[in-house]
Amino acid sequence: MNDLLRQFMEKVSRRNNGEPEFLQAVTEVAESLIPFISEHPIYRDNKVLERVVEPERVIMFRVPWINDKGEVEVNRGFRIQMNSAIGPYKGGLRFHPSVNLSVLKFLAFEQVFKNSLTGLPMGGGKGGSDFDPKGRSDNEVMKFCQSFMTELYRHVGADIDIPAGDIGVGKREIGYLFGQYKRIKGEFSGVLTGKGFEWGCSLIRPEATGYGLVYFVEEILKIRGETIQGKRVTISGSGNVAQYAAEKCIAKGAKVVTMSDSDGFIYEPDGLDLERLQFLKELKEVRRGRISEYAAHFKCDYFKGERPWRIKCDIALPNATQNEVDGKDAKSLIENGCFCVAEGANMPCTPEAVAAFNKAQVSYAPGKAANAGGVAVSGLEMSQNSVRFSWSRDEVDNKLRDIMKQIHRICVKYGKEEDGHINYEKGANIGGFVKIAEAMLAQGVV
Ligand code: NDP
Repeated sequence: MNDLLRQFMEKVSRRNNGEPEFLQAVTEVAESLIPFISEHPIYRDNKVLERVVEPERVIMFRVPWINDKGEVEVNRGFRIQMNSAIGPYKGGLRFHPSVNLSVLKFLAFEQVFKNSLTGLPMGGGKGGSDFDPKGRSDNEVMKFCQSFMTELYRHVGADIDIPAGDIGVGKREIGYLFGQYKRIKGEFSGVLTGKGFEWGCSLIRPEATGYGLVYFVEEILKIRGETIQGKRVTISGSGNVAQYAAEKCIAKGAKVVTMSDSDGFIYEPDGLDLERLQFLKELKEVRRGRISEYAAHFKCDYFKGERPWRIKCDIALPNATQNEVDGKDAKSLIENGCFCVAEGANMPCTPEAVAAFNKAQVSYAPGKAANAGGVAVSGLEMSQNSVRFSWSRDEVDNKLRDIMKQIHRICVKYGKEEDGHINYEKGANIGGFVKIAEAMLAQGVV
């Protein structure tokens, strides 16, 4: 670590003591940006990075609600309004027991760069709660969402802050949140994205993160003179991102050999087909079951309590959660011949894993670039809601593909090393930063 980076991180660490995920995300960005900022003194003199790491606003609130047994439960709600230099705050809501201030600040920080990379006018934010929807009845989820929105409504709005889904927040939760917002405010507006198709969702929004991830991988492979057809792909997760990444991989002729949930992973040596994937989607979305039930149904291998990174593959797509690929996992991926790792999840690779990938010249694409397709189509949903109009499936899909290509071009522009290796992490960090920094300079010290 050079001196400037050390001094910078010491200050950030002092102020954000006890927030390991946030500090991890800031360190990773600062490593790319501090050398760049040293060459551009206007950013240094105006303390742009120092301002970018400080949320514009952090909202924390009590969420009391009554469960099916008539008991009072209390959760904690959050909204981090990180940066609005290039547009209203935009970013998902996560409902998971692991949610805390550090996790949401890291996600909000990453979101600022990601949204900038899409080229759309969206600032960055993130929110959520330590509420766990797993095992809860629909009625309990509704009660919780109504209480959550009863506080959050005063901080959000179609031109202020537009939340969406994330882990534990899908169409059902967005529906309950939207219903309560509409009821309190008496207005039907585009305050949330990822809605139901009948009431404002953009076509392709559910698919967007997973599809966009595969479009990004195709751009990486193009540079390497390869295509995705016939490649072995390991995927973690079996939620929204994982399902649609798998769907697009299969449609393009790749072999998806693993999928997982927080209990373990399934291994299909010949690859899942669309029929099996459909079973998995229904299992997860409708029956809210466990991936072990897939293994029992199809009699395939199931590895309880394990992650899929020791399985031989060409491409790895970590699509579950943060820090799910560590240095040891990276070593086994590299030893098994994996040459491309693209993050569908946010920050799934630890710093040790990222360093190992870059050292081995594995094409490593960070989430802020590779999974930006979701928020990009959320941005397109906002535009459609504003003009009360909908684009066709093909129109949205084409725009998504163009945006992913554009993000890839930005990564190459700022991330190409002297030896020709593309450091996508550096490219995404610098490319995302420049647009925000210019807007912040233009808007004065605010
Ligand atoms: P879902 O809730 O739909 O699915 C999450 C998946 O990850 C589930 O299979 C879940 O398993 C698994 N998972 C969650 N936590 C853990 C854990 N601690 N250990 C192992 N597995 C875990 O979420 P999404 O698919 O929407 O999100 C997945 C990732 O993608 C997150 O990092 C999210 O921030 C990121 N992302 C999502 C976007 C979107 O549009 N949805 C956009 C950009 C990024 P289980 O069922 O057992 O909980």
